[in-house]
Amino acid sequence: MTDQENNDRTSEYEEVCYMCRRPESQCGRLMTIGPNLHICADCMQKTFDAFQSGNVPGLNGMNMQDISKMSDQFKNLNFPDLGSLGVPERQKVKKKKPKEEGETAPVFDIKKIPAPHKIKAKLDEYVVGQEHAKKAISVAVYNHYKRIAADTSDGVEIEKSNLLLIGPTGSGKTFLVKTLARLLDVPLAIADATSLTEAGYIGDDIESVLSKLLAAADNDVERCEQGIVFIDEIDKIAKKKNMNSRDVSGESVQQELLKLLEGSEVEVPVGSGSKNAMVPMTTVDTSNILFICGGAFPDLEDIVKERIHDRGGIGFTAALPSEDKNVLQKVTVEDLRKFGMIPEFLGRLPIIAVLEPLDKDFLVRILTEPKNAITKQYQKLLAMDEVRLEFAPEALDLIAERAMEKGTGARALRAILEEYMMDIMYEIPKDDAIGSVTITREYLEGKGAPLIEMRGYAPARIEEARPAAEGPDNG
Ligand code: ADP
Repeated sequence: MTDQENNDRTSEYEEVCYMCRRPESQCGRLMTIGPNLHICADCMQKTFDAFQSGNVPGLNGMNMQDISKMSDQFKNLNFPDLGSLGVPERQKVKKKKPKEEGETAPVFDIKKIPAPHKIKAKLDEYVVGQEHAKKAISVAVYNHYKRIAADTSDGVEIEKSNLLLIGPTGSGKTFLVKTLARLLDVPLAIADATSLTEAGYIGDDIESVLSKLLAAADNDVERCEQGIVFIDEIDKIAKKKNMNSRDVSGESVQQELLKLLEGSEVEVPVGSGSKNAMVPMTTVDTSNILFICGGAFPDLEDIVKERIHDRGGIGFTAALPSEDKNVLQKVTVEDLRKFGMIPEFLGRLPIIAVLEPLDKDFLVRILTEPKNAITKQYQKLLAMDEVRLEFAPEALDLIAERAMEKGTGARALRAILEEYMMDIMYEIPKDDAIGSVTITREYLEGKGAPLIEMRGYAPARIEEARPAAEGPDNG
């Protein structure tokens, strides 16, 4: 190894494997076979295996004469010549800084499996309300990681506790799963069921979901196999009614997902979503991957109501189901089957959690309560300018009302607040004398100004405050 190379090994940059693109820190010491051309031991082994089995693209269909002609040409090829094959000069990636102790330590150590109430308490810090869903998810995760750790020698095998989250759009399904994966420090892949199609059709194969998870786990298969996969919009792959053509994105996708949900060994392309001859493959065992499916399931409520109503029969005096706000909480597997999910699929999602729809008060809580609530983020930004930011309760109500009108749940909150806050964030840092700002409902409605308090002055409206602040300078 040259001095130059030695230097490089200790520099901030590291080489990547030409085939699987993993950096040296992940795939172990690389073999240098030409200038800027490095290959890891795994890929080298795979290449030898492929040659041995005769499974090399391009060699198929060649007769012995062709092959010997080729090998004659290879005799004249020196290894340094490989550099002329069009290998880009810089293939190095910047090394990740070693993580400092405690900096990114996971909140939970999955090997020690935190009890469900501890998982829920942590979720509570970030996710407002949705008590039932948080409880269900905490228990499911607890059982899931216990199952992985369990000894199966006694013949008792705990079944997988995959989860189905039902809730309207913007009710926090994705957020809940993301928060969970972050707390547990396990890799997470989020996929959209609508983009999945039966293998061989235009769209993503089912394996692409695992490919994403593998990427989220930095190509570490072991970590990937303990990860979480969230498949959103699962209601969109319900069995299509009155279909004449082949149902390549509905029932057949449910069929194909079965094997993943239950646990099987799947060949997954490394570092790319597509399978082709140049992409190395690896095998991922899905039996310890937690699958969470989510969907809004529109019209499901009507199916549940209909069932309850039918069962109630005429003449019963129980409250009319239509008056029950949480009718969806009473959903059964039978209702979901009616919706168009196939029984085998539902059988592999044993836990069903329903998220509540968000009303105005709920949205106000989301604005203010979570550990990283949006209003807290603005407060932090202005605190850096030593300005205290407050929101009048009526102003928060207005933001929530506007978000309700959009019908996209809590997702609209950020965009609405950002629009209102733009001027504030622009104007306030101009004036060092401003000590605090209160966002009022009148200001948001365009009928008035925010309440500004100058440092060492009594509260005043912004128009009155400015001249007073400028006073001492002028005179
Ligand atoms: P869904 O997946 O149900 O359509 P999301 O999880 O994408 O909805 O929610 C959108 C955003 O709304 C999230 O990024 C999060 O900031 C916020 N949000 C929704 N529900 C809650 C909640 N219960 N607590 C805190 N934030 C929430």
